Amino acid sequence: MDLVEQLLLGDKKALARFLRGLEEMQAWAYAGLKRIMPYVRDIPVIGIAGGQGVGKSTFIDRMIEALSKELKSIAILLVDPASESSGGAFLGDRIRMQRHADNPLVFIKSMSSRRSSGGLGLPAWWMIETLCAAGFDYVIVETMGIGQDEKEIKDAAFTTVLLVAPSQGDEIQMLKAGLLEMADIIVVNKTDLPEGELLAAYLSGFERYSKDGWKVPVVPVSARTGKGTLEALKIITEHFNFLRQRQMFAQKRLNLVRNALEKLLIHFIQLKLEDEQICNPVIPRLASGEIDPIEAVDELFRRLRCKLSV
Ligand code: GDP
Repeated sequence: MDLVEQLLLGDKKALARFLRGLEEMQAWAYAGLKRIMPYVRDIPVIGIAGGQGVGKSTFIDRMIEALSKELKSIAILLVDPASESSGGAFLGDRIRMQRHADNPLVFIKSMSSRRSSGGLGLPAWWMIETLCAAGFDYVIVETMGIGQDEKEIKDAAFTTVLLVAPSQGDEIQMLKAGLLEMADIIVVNKTDLPEGELLAAYLSGFERYSKDGWKVPVVPVSARTGKGTLEALKIITEHFNFLRQRQMFAQKRLNLVRNALEKLLIHFIQLKLEDEQICNPVIPRLASGEIDPIEAVDELFRRLRCKLSV
């Protein structure tokens, strides 16, 4: 049995090796996706977004606890925008979650998105597809920091949970950044603190319908005490059923695959452009006015095509 067969049968070691192959941009892993895609199932893919320190790890830890009590299997993908120099250090923040590492129902993969220019990072998109084929009941994707990655998670996940917590001025920032708009569910954490309760009450005033017609709820929780976790999970399931009833999965998946493909294409082009043989002959001709910039781009595409086919 090869790696792909093993991971499709639920072998976690094989899955970890395959994901590493994707992360390292190994051609064999990308070729293996062809055999994985037919097995991708419609399962809840939950994106958890929120700034650093709002309690994402603590909340996910609670989710794992609750779901594994119901004997649900869960894959967690932790995407971190760590810089090259601090690569790997972020794992320390997530030690709490690692206590589930021996739980046979739980699979945790951490990756850094440092190689990509913002966003989840190219391999993460293909990893989500792979996890959806590997027999789990739930896939949870967590990303850190407010910015591009959080906007991307909306396309990568079926249900986007925005986790917020009280801290000075954050709410205003969120409103400005349009982050509330991207959420399917707003979870207000730290409601064991009076400021948390106030924030939940304040944000309830912003309850609205998404463009699909889903009413975006504001759910107060305390990841510290566990209060509200079951309610949040119930609402996540309701959102999943909402999408299923409207047969929106096919569209969501095509959208995910489109994004994944776009990122792969850009990666390929960037890689090929580093090859001096492709660019160098075109640049002097453009500089001397022999060709115009559009012709130069055409020429580059032609040269790229030649290179791709060898
Ligand atoms: P992350 O950076 O979003 O993953 O946040 P963490 O889960 O690491 O939590 C950041 C800090 O907030 C930690 O010190 C947690 O103990 C604390 N924290 C998390 N959830 C709660 C909560 O519900 N109430 C309170 N009071 N503190 C919390």
